[in-house]
Amino acid sequence: MTIDLLHRHVRQLSECRRCHTAGFPVAGVPVSPVRAQDIPALLSCKARILIVGQAPGRTEASGTQPFIGAAGRTLFNWFASAGIDEADLRSSALISAVTRCYPGPSATGRGDRLPTRVESTLCRPWLEDERKLLRPSLIIPIGQMAIRVMTGRKVLSDLIGTTLVVDGIACIPLPHPSGASSWIYGPGNRDRLSAALKHIGKWWGSQIAGSGTPD
Ligand code: SF4
Repeated sequence: MTIDLLHRHVRQLSECRRCHTAGFPVAGVPVSPVRAQDIPALLSCKARILIVGQAPGRTEASGTQPFIGAAGRTLFNWFASAGIDEADLRSSALISAVTRCYPGPSATGRGDRLPTRVESTLCRPWLEDERKLLRPSLIIPIGQMAIRVMTGRKVLSDLIGTTLVVDGIACIPLPHPSGASSWIYGPGNRDRLSAALKHIGKWWGSQIAGSGTPD
């Protein structure tokens, strides 16, 4: 059963130390994409969402939940502006990431270290497993790294505000909500973000809110 496979996935992910073994300066433990107690509700949703972030921040390094720090507050404020409540979204989405362990601070002291391509490759099987287990109806990659991994494309201003189809699945990219990201301040980018949130809100209204209680 998928529920057992997802429980096993979460347990095995929590034990992963591939990047530590390979010598990368990651800290903390892998952040679970879903709390074990939320798995039955997640799998009972008619339409499921796969959110893909970049990597946990310092606040998430204890491994409890993704997006519980400042960037998460910005992200869930964005979703709230699209009419989507944080608790509702967390119970309908698996919140994955390109890498799952806190990469540590950047050498410049501004923001966190970007995971390397090697770390991304080491972590990729977890993401692939989640995509197979969840069978999402919508993918929301967040930030340039996740967008590149999920779509093969990377120019944010061409992508934010559009709905793509990736391997037959709708995909609505968002910029990274971190304060370290300056993309939002570029010309026209707030409008692009608003358009993306409108697409997500419309999808949510038709697939989740408009479909009654998920069975
Ligand atoms: S980042 Fe991913 S592959 Fe690397 S140790 Fe953490 S869970 Fe494992």
